[in-house]
Amino acid sequence: MSRMLEVAGVAVSPDHYIGGQRIASDKTFEIFCPIDQQVLGHISEGTAEHVEAAIVAAQQAFPAWSALSAAERKPYLDRFAEEIGKRADALCLLESNDAGVLLSRMRHGVVPRAMLNISWFAQHALDLQNRPIETEQAHHIVRHDPAGVVVVITPWNAPLMLSTWKLGPALAAGNTCILKPPEWAPLTCSLLADAAHAAGLPPGVFNVVQGTGANTGAKLVSDPRIARVSFTGSVPTAKWIAQSAGANLVPCSLELGGKSPFIVLEDADIDSAAATGALMYRNAGQVCLAGTRFLVHEKVVDAFIATMRAYVEKLVVGDPRDETTEVGPVIHPKQVERVLGFVERAVAAGAQVLWGGAAHPFGAQYIQPTMITNLQQSDEIVQNEVFGPVLTLQTFASDDEAITLANGTDFGLGGVCYGETAHATAVAEQVRTGFIWVNSFGIRDLAAPFGGIKRSGIGREGGDWSFEFFCDVKDVVVPKKPFKASFSHR
Ligand code: NAD
Repeated sequence: MSRMLEVAGVAVSPDHYIGGQRIASDKTFEIFCPIDQQVLGHISEGTAEHVEAAIVAAQQAFPAWSALSAAERKPYLDRFAEEIGKRADALCLLESNDAGVLLSRMRHGVVPRAMLNISWFAQHALDLQNRPIETEQAHHIVRHDPAGVVVVITPWNAPLMLSTWKLGPALAAGNTCILKPPEWAPLTCSLLADAAHAAGLPPGVFNVVQGTGANTGAKLVSDPRIARVSFTGSVPTAKWIAQSAGANLVPCSLELGGKSPFIVLEDADIDSAAATGALMYRNAGQVCLAGTRFLVHEKVVDAFIATMRAYVEKLVVGDPRDETTEVGPVIHPKQVERVLGFVERAVAAGAQVLWGGAAHPFGAQYIQPTMITNLQQSDEIVQNEVFGPVLTLQTFASDDEAITLANGTDFGLGGVCYGETAHATAVAEQVRTGFIWVNSFGIRDLAAPFGGIKRSGIGREGGDWSFEFFCDVKDVVVPKKPFKASFSHR
């Protein structure tokens, strides 16, 4: 028997969606609102039985779905995007309540992007099939065939955006999918299943199995019937998944954490850099691609600190459901403890707090926007991802020193570089990351590659890169002249 939860006036299923049907578990786990710690409800925990049912449903749906052309799949996916749009208000309210994401950001950024994630890849898949290569000897028909059953695993900081970013290309390429939502913020992923159902996606093409990572997620990624695992989350989990899927030689795409540099060169527009700097507190700093390590030229550091402090003092910390709020809560009490632990240990080791540095009075899961300085490159807070509203600041005296500091961690996701455009571009080109923004932040395009190097991940998402991952590429070779068998042929 399937049940419904009511969260902020929105009815949402806490159950799995398998083979086109809602299925409940006897075993459940509790979820909480990070704003006021209210219990939001009990979510079904996927057992071995649910994982099995989802894999079988996805396998059974695969032959018919993969046999459709991209043009035949497109209307289903366009309707899926439309159905997401019809649920915009509900999606905004749910993710604001279970993940603490700003309602304004959900409305203006995340929901439109979630729709585009589905419709853009449906359109782009039309160009995908049968790319020819002509040589003197042969026609090569290079096919991008769907790989099979794909498992998608996403984190709590952006569940709707990241799930659709993977589901869009996976489904458009003709795969069938099983989504395992994050256990701390599973509600918008459940509503995605309603949207897929209303759009008429055939049963089993898209499935949701709710549950915790160590239990449900682990069962899904270690199953040999899975063709791909697309994961966004933390480094320790990625290592586990890579080993587990690797045992079956199942390819994984891993989008992981960051410790990205935010470089302010001597010739930077300080006001513009500082205004962008304050944006790093967005989503309470729980953003993988944020520039969290400020590296500022020593000649402009005093002006930069004063200017950024003024911007930070104006930030509105509060309830993310209030349209004027700019900084909301941290997701979970455990995350609050973890973030404040970084600050306490840094201060105990001699670091200086420029602003913030403690819990915020707005609520139990709120932390003041914080900046820490007087640090060594080897310090824990410089080397490790904090994933909260806590940034660090170091100075440099030359471009070479800035680049050495920027490259001096195990992470390599993104970066920001402010300075005179040609100068900043030249420095940015030497920073070892998957992407870097010059005099800007957050400009994304679905056609562009996204992903990290070093501990920040393996693989690229976006445009053709998503399809390369979700497809089996096959070369069908047709000779131009009659082929004569010969043992001397190569
Ligand atoms: P996490 O690794 O703890 O969990 C991510 C997901 O993995 C969750 O759905 C969880 O249930 C699942 N999981 C956990 N253990 C598993 C296992 N053994 N097998 C299968 N699945 C398992 O990460 P989190 O705390 O939810 O998210 C924060 C992290 O995500 C940060 O490190 C952040 O930088 C990263 N992130 C990266 C990007 C990116 O695009 N690079 C984007 C957003 C977040």
